[in-house]
Amino acid sequence: MSEGLRVLVAEDDGRLADMLGTLLLTEGYDVQIAHDGQRALHRGLTETYDAIILDRGLPAVDGLGVLRALRQGGVTTPILILSALGTAPDRVDGLNAGAEDYLSKPFDIDELLARVRALIRRASSSVPIVRFAGGHLDVNGRTVILVDGTRTVLSDREASLLELLARRPDQVFSRPVLLDQVFAAADDPGVVDTYVHHLRRKFGRALIETVRGVGYRMGGLR
Ligand code: CA
Repeated sequence: MSEGLRVLVAEDDGRLADMLGTLLLTEGYDVQIAHDGQRALHRGLTETYDAIILDRGLPAVDGLGVLRALRQGGVTTPILILSALGTAPDRVDGLNAGAEDYLSKPFDIDELLARVRALIRRASSSVPIVRFAGGHLDVNGRTVILVDGTRTVLSDREASLLELLARRPDQVFSRPVLLDQVFAAADDPGVVDTYVHHLRRKFGRALIETVRGVGYRMGGLR
């Protein structure tokens, strides 16, 4: 289920960074690694991630500096700090600086993975609005609200499909992945196309792009 989720690892210890990168890749995450605070900050500000694992002791800009700058820059991506500094005051510093979680080194790999999963789960369930070009989806109300104020209530499945696509507008989703994440595995794969068709009929063809031979990607209105 971690397919397509993007994680940034900011860690200056090359061996640990490699280990984390390999581990997260094995779990199905799309991983990028930054070896110092400046690069971590640049990536965090210019790219979209589902979670950031941030070493506290980083060269150039330290982890807490990166964290504060990301939060000041409006980045709300959940961040887990990894640090050799593991006392209660150290943790409080990290959480006060805007981190969602704090794990001290040495850490247990399964615990780290479980915490990353929990961070992503909490973040994705706590955002009730998903924006896209031309409007947004109110997830709880299953309602699409366009920039001109038009409101359209969707069925459960239409809303789930649109939410998944709109949360990751850069990602191309294959039919099997959409089938797995939005519909029941036992459904006919054609159901994906049927629901894409429903959404396009309501909001225009450009809402969802067809990527030939691969699947679908979020588009937008107009
Ligand atoms: Ca370090």
